[in-house]
Amino acid sequence: MDELARQLNQLAGNSPLQLLDDPFPEPVAIRLVLKRDDRLHPQVSGNKWRKLKYNLIAARDQGFSTLLTFGGAYSNHLYAVAAAGNVFGFRTIGLVRGEELAGKPLNETLDFCQQSGMHLHFVSRADYRRKDDSGFLTELIAQFGPCYILPEGGTNELAIRGTAEVIPEIIAQLGYAPDYVCCPVGTGGTVAGLVQSAPEGMEVLGFVVLKGLVWANLPLGHYSLTNAQAGDWPRLIQDYHFGGYAKTTPELLQFIQIFERKTGILLDQVYTGKMLFGIYDLARNGFFPTGATVVAVHTGGLQGRSDELDAINS
Ligand SMILES: *Cc1c(COP(=O)(O)O)cnc(C)c1O
Repeated sequence: MDELARQLNQLAGNSPLQLLDDPFPEPVAIRLVLKRDDRLHPQVSGNKWRKLKYNLIAARDQGFSTLLTFGGAYSNHLYAVAAAGNVFGFRTIGLVRGEELAGKPLNETLDFCQQSGMHLHFVSRADYRRKDDSGFLTELIAQFGPCYILPEGGTNELAIRGTAEVIPEIIAQLGYAPDYVCCPVGTGGTVAGLVQSAPEGMEVLGFVVLKGLVWANLPLGHYSLTNAQAGDWPRLIQDYHFGGYAKTTPELLQFIQIFERKTGILLDQVYTGKMLFGIYDLARNGFFPTGATVVAVHTGGLQGRSDELDAINS
């Protein structure tokens, strides 16, 4: 195994399971366990690490020294790619949505990316929408030279190979297969990996963080999910998006605040906060059978975390 693969496999040991034994806000009759993927790496955290793993190995194997990707100004993915480039020795180029941001002071996420050596290239919203067009990608390669291109959010076939490693790890750590494994759903790369590797009898629950996201508009049709698996989309839970992507409510923020106080584990209001709110709410409403083991994957990534949460906490 080459050096990069060895380093990456070693890091996989950093994600323990943690039993939440004082569940909030009132006792629920389930065993709730958190899979701490947020601890995989201090900067390349959570599912972004999972999704990058085999892409980094492929980029190295194919002789690329530059990674190019896309993201908004608060993108956990952009942040993770910048950090991974720095740690594992790739040049990185980030195409950032929003021409108007060029020349302005950088926010914390973009500042981190630049400090990590990422070349930030701001593009108009119209150009950004072309991010998956082959013609646009060819132009980018002409402009920046040969580069390994990662899609927005990092979801592609190799990403799903990475997220498919989470459930086998959970089963090995727990010593048995849990009844439920839960994750938040943005582009769907994480839930696709879970569904792919879930053994018979295990339910995978994806908590959708944006409005109206259904199986059909996830960009996953061509990623090796069987039709039977694709037909299982009741597994996408739609009731906890709180109005849409990055939208929040005082109720959600208050939930996160109490959870963080009780556990010392940070969440964000974009992804993991919505998932955990949903799990507790379902538990209270008797969705899970008594005694069920429910594992929630802490997908990491705190770039979208609201300053309001710190304000409430202090
Ligand atoms: C990006 C992200 C997600 C969404 O994952 P998908 O694979 O795109 O569905 C979930 N949680 C966190 C913390 C993220 O940063």
